[in-house]
Amino acid sequence: MKKVVKFGGSSLASAEQFRKAGKIIKDDPSRRYVVPSAPGKRFSGDAKITDLLYKCYGAAVKEKRFTDIMDTIQKRYQEIIDDLGLSLSLEKEFEVMRENFGRKIGRDYAASRGEYLNGIILAAYLDYTFIDAATVIAFAEDGTLLADKTNSLLAQKLSSVERAVIPGFYGFRPDGSIQTFSRGGSDVTGSLVAKAICADMYENWTDVSGFLVADPNIIENPKVIETITYKELRELAYMGATVLHEDAIFPVRKEGIPINIRNTNAPEEKGTLIVEGTCRKPKYTITGIAGKKGFASVTIEKAMMNAEVGFGRKVLGIFEDEGISFEHMPSGIDTMTIFVHQEEFEEHEQRVIAGIHRAVEPDEIELESDLALIAVVGRGMRQTRGTAGRIFSALAHAHVNVKMIDQGSSELNIIIGVKNQEFEMAIEAIYDIFVNTQI
Ligand code: ASP
Repeated sequence: MKKVVKFGGSSLASAEQFRKAGKIIKDDPSRRYVVPSAPGKRFSGDAKITDLLYKCYGAAVKEKRFTDIMDTIQKRYQEIIDDLGLSLSLEKEFEVMRENFGRKIGRDYAASRGEYLNGIILAAYLDYTFIDAATVIAFAEDGTLLADKTNSLLAQKLSSVERAVIPGFYGFRPDGSIQTFSRGGSDVTGSLVAKAICADMYENWTDVSGFLVADPNIIENPKVIETITYKELRELAYMGATVLHEDAIFPVRKEGIPINIRNTNAPEEKGTLIVEGTCRKPKYTITGIAGKKGFASVTIEKAMMNAEVGFGRKVLGIFEDEGISFEHMPSGIDTMTIFVHQEEFEEHEQRVIAGIHRAVEPDEIELESDLALIAVVGRGMRQTRGTAGRIFSALAHAHVNVKMIDQGSSELNIIIGVKNQEFEMAIEAIYDIFVNTQI
């Protein structure tokens, strides 16, 4: 059994967190490859090392004094080293960094040092081999990941190393310079390592006990999703629910490696298992609820629209010409409604309306703003009768006015449009009917 374990920034923010991570790793000998993030926040209001590094480099580029921020960063690492009782010195590393920052060597290089240094400390603490990601994660000149090259470099390197720490978030370009993934990218590194070693499991350790059924800013102490499929995760993530970097899914999904989201501060909890497919029924019929505010809708009305071949194409062509993507398109016999992101749409609004008038000569165009979309997602819906009925009676009881309903043909989700100000109320009502009033 081989596992890759990735620890997020808050899981390695202090010596105390290092001890928790260390215990988790040592508790299971199959946890052989470890991918750390840079130290995150120790308490709310604290600074993440990555943010400090960006700030520090920003000062260096403007040829302002950057040594104070660099000293703060060094102190954070030194505190961890001292508190763990390690006889490790990062003095030389910081000397090199100061010089490179002074030479303005690159923003990505600067940011990557957070993971690099944390990796050195973690490897020393665990007595694992340190492998610099700049030797095994390969990017092309244009900044895209070279997935095949990375896979063979990792596989080759790790085949002869029993236990290793590989820092997350960065790799190298053909010219040898450092390139990072987008923010949160250590998740991607973990996933690439898991694929390369054909891991049995990719554990992603963070500070929540898994993927939650609903947003904790709306629902107090929402339940944790025990098992979720990649498809469900995509639906929920698209609507704003995130625990994982989106690019972390692809490498492991293709190999059928499950991802387990776990909580470093509560390792006894099983967390959320993300899988390709499962026979396990979701506990509450629905798997999760997520949503976003800030949509607008454009409703076009024209008598006998249904008989006009090419009507839809012409209308959508106007949006395409303006570079606006549409989210949903519920339609009636003589009406069609297009949901768009309000902010994106506002700038193009008048041109779109004029374009539609010219293209299809509608009887009326109606605009509505400040709308929210809610996705109720669940693989269990297909086999269960009355899911939609329960959702809409719960919304009616909560006096939420439903503006739009769209059930995906996969029967994996139901999308509901409501007014922005009824968004939270609607989520509470749906959560309540499925989770609190389970039948
Ligand atoms: N340290 C990086 C960030 O803050 C990458 C990561 O944590 O995954 O975005």
